[in-house]
Amino acid sequence: MSGSATAQLIDGKAIAAALRAQLADAVAKLKAEHGVVPGLAVVLVGDDPASQVYVRNKHAQTVEAGMASFEHRLPASTSREALLAMVDQLNKDPLVHGILVQLPLPAHLDATEVLNAIDPDKDVDGFHPVNAGRLATGQALFVPCTPVGCELLLRSVIADPSGLHAVVIGRSNIVGKPMAQLLLAANCTVTIVHSRTRDLAGLVRQADIVVAALGRAEFVKGDWIKPGAIVIDVGINRIEQADGKTRLVGDVDFASASQVAGAITPVPGGVGPMTIACLLRNTLIAARYRLGLDGQV
Ligand code: NAD
Repeated sequence: MSGSATAQLIDGKAIAAALRAQLADAVAKLKAEHGVVPGLAVVLVGDDPASQVYVRNKHAQTVEAGMASFEHRLPASTSREALLAMVDQLNKDPLVHGILVQLPLPAHLDATEVLNAIDPDKDVDGFHPVNAGRLATGQALFVPCTPVGCELLLRSVIADPSGLHAVVIGRSNIVGKPMAQLLLAANCTVTIVHSRTRDLAGLVRQADIVVAALGRAEFVKGDWIKPGAIVIDVGINRIEQADGKTRLVGDVDFASASQVAGAITPVPGGVGPMTIACLLRNTLIAARYRLGLDGQV
């Protein structure tokens, strides 16, 4: 990799659209050859406005890919018992291959308990400890969607990242930790940095690959980036501008980082569009896995 004055832009929107088209073909083939339509059940509890938008988008893209979409909208007052009964019913439903419980849940419900009640073989979000363990031991089945999307974006610019030093900023179960596992499986040398890390900038400066998933607007500066490095920005932050309007920015200061990096994802239009496409990918994997076919697509 050589440094360049202006980084190559990694077009997540286009890459996600191509992935969805590829999935639609694979779904049609599965239907023709095995008579099976992959089904995704999404459970939404309450009326969080952002969750409503996510669930609507998931439904539309699921249907567009030729899959079956089962939406279950429950009131915010739903009891723990009622929600667990719903998960149990979906676990047993043969038409449902993937189950997703939209987060965040209302405060009286324990997200860990609910997610752990999902059948690991239907856990298309990849959050169940069984799937975290499968990933950590080289038996990956369902990997959380956002890190899978990041890996696909990374591989769009470098097919084999073997031997490169990847620095992952953030250690959440949803992004940071599974991202680090994926990069390790791809033979990268992986450093995970987080809120207690000493000399964060110094460590990021050593990275050939930077994945920023810390949830702090424009935190990673251009002078932390090694010339030519690949920068994957997971952050989604809304900041208020001088004119009072809000703007979406990532965890990386795009203006300065894009002058130094070899390739970089924009926000919006980078990692964001990949997440639902990877959820559909996991749903197809679930349907194939149940049929005893090669799980990977
Ligand atoms: P999180 O809050 O669960 O975890 C953030 C992590 O960053 C923590 O492990 C913490 O140790 C680390 N961190 C926080 N402040 C830090 C600092 N100052 N220096 C170094 N590390 C620090 O967040 P998350 O769920 O992993 O999400 C991270 C970001 O990614 C958020 O902006 C979120 O909106 C975004 N996100 C985007 C998508 C997508 O589809 N594009 C999906 C999930 C999350």
